[in-house]
Amino acid sequence: MQTNFNEVQLTDPSLASANEILRRCVHCGLCTATCPTYVLTGDERDSPRGRIYLMKQMFEDRQVTASMTYHIDRCLSCFSCMTACPSGVDYMHLVDLARTRIEAKGRRSPIQSGWRFVLSKVLPHPGRFRSALMLGWFARPLRAVFARLGLKRTAAALALVPSRLPKTAQANPRSQIGKEPDAKRVALMLGCVQEVLAPSISRAAMRLLRRHGVDVVVAKEEICCGALVQHLGRENEARRLARRNIDAWTALGREKPLDAVVITTSGCGTTIKDYGHLLARDRGYADRAEHVSGLARDITEFIDEIGLLPPVMWTGLRIAYQSACSLQHGQKLDALPISLLEQAGFNIMRIPESHLCCGSAGTYNLLEPELSGELRDRKLANIAKLNADVIVSANIGCMTQLAGGTNIPLVHTVEMLDWATGGPVPQALAKFKNPGHRIEALVELSKQAALVD
Ligand code: SF4
Ligand code: SF4
Repeated sequence: MQTNFNEVQLTDPSLASANEILRRCVHCGLCTATCPTYVLTGDERDSPRGRIYLMKQMFEDRQVTASMTYHIDRCLSCFSCMTACPSGVDYMHLVDLARTRIEAKGRRSPIQSGWRFVLSKVLPHPGRFRSALMLGWFARPLRAVFARLGLKRTAAALALVPSRLPKTAQANPRSQIGKEPDAKRVALMLGCVQEVLAPSISRAAMRLLRRHGVDVVVAKEEICCGALVQHLGRENEARRLARRNIDAWTALGREKPLDAVVITTSGCGTTIKDYGHLLARDRGYADRAEHVSGLARDITEFIDEIGLLPPVMWTGLRIAYQSACSLQHGQKLDALPISLLEQAGFNIMRIPESHLCCGSAGTYNLLEPELSGELRDRKLANIAKLNADVIVSANIGCMTQLAGGTNIPLVHTVEMLDWATGGPVPQALAKFKNPGHRIEALVELSKQAALVD
């Protein structure tokens, strides 16, 4: 694509970077058919190619219009377009640059800006998020009233509040939990939202890693990875959070070198693997950020590297595998988690249109409830074709998004691998009530083998 930046503009590093990315696009349109928003609306401005044109105009003319804001806000950052693009257009970093610009120019309504501000101040902080969740739980029965009053975002947020509030994690996970002298040593990232909604996922990861002889440590100072605020266009906040995590993991590495930083939330994994880029121009952090990015592994990657233990029980459960966008498109890890689940004795079924996002996408389901709802219904309709026993995903966002629309239990990949190799039955399966269903029979079998937590 031909661009028209002048020399002065190109002295601005963000414009120089945008120019480089834009010039790779050859307008072929191969990305459009894989874009969830284009599939739903059929509007070129809701497609990757259309958004790239809008962003070109935004950067060249240094202007942010209401239309640009509207269509770029509707992008999920699912990066399905990057998987499809034959020219290697770095859409991820281009849209991040555009979001930062939109946030700075403030072309949104006060209500939209207010929502975004609140989300950026609540979600990355587990204490605040837990309090918000409790408030939401009390207001949950009123969601139909909010919807009738036209408060669609509030209604959508309440629909995502689980019917039972999650328990706070019991054991103190912020302590060192294993010290084998020659063992591989990893820092397990607990995350922010996941640790509030489903602390059982990190506990399953700890058990799984330790069962494989890995020394697991958790950095006391670790905080949100920064993905949530970065997607809201608040890049400086994302950098601040990234620096804190880098300091925390660097301190752990000084005691004894880390072999990996292991992540169980695929959205966080994509962001941490990109810390090197995020802090590339920060002299004090660039090298350490690159080092941490190099250490970052999705847990399935790490388990594959060390080799999965054989399963203690061959369940043959039928799993609809929801391949989170941040894993399949962001980290290019699509076949690997499936292969591990198959090795663990499960029967994996691909969901039709598996490249399309479920509509969760970080804060997208709270900010764009209509498109998000359509994508969720489409995903659930595709899942319904499979007659699955369980839906498995590597991302708490997908799990929360789909949970409200189905009775099929939702379980994280790591909980399934933990169970298969000798851990307790995942909570969602242990609570599952459907007499005669094979899940109940398997839970009973596990109990007899004393595998229930
Ligand atoms: S990131 Fe996803 S929603 Fe955004 S343009 Fe690309 S395919 Fe479409
Ligand atoms: S597939 Fe790549 S090169 Fe083709 S229009 Fe989309 S972004 Fe541009």
